[in-house]
Amino acid sequence: MRYRKPTTVDWLRAGFYVFLMLVVTVAGAVLLSQFQLPGMVIWGGIFVASLYLLVRWHAGNTGYRCPACGSFFTISTLTDFVSPHLLDGKWLRCPKCGERRRHEVWMRIDAT
Ligand SMILES: [Zn+2]
Repeated sequence: MRYRKPTTVDWLRAGFYVFLMLVVTVAGAVLLSQFQLPGMVIWGGIFVASLYLLVRWHAGNTGYRCPACGSFFTISTLTDFVSPHLLDGKWLRCPKCGERRRHEVWMRIDAT
């Protein structure tokens, strides 16, 4: 696994995906609100599915560098979802040295 520092393009792409998700959920809420309960259930499904895709994309394309021992590691979709997200990193526990601190986010070069 190889990593590189995130570029402006990476931030723009991530921002675009978040924006796309907001458009889908807001448009879905407007369109489906007229169907009351069934509409809300469908909307909830769309919201959860798009959030899952967004987090899965993020977890699959990023890695983290431990500032204490310098090792790189990746996290699962679930960990990505539940761990506190900071502006340019994530609060994680290093799997190698066990340090709990802010980890820098890097991009995976050979991402899936
Ligand atoms: Zn470490």
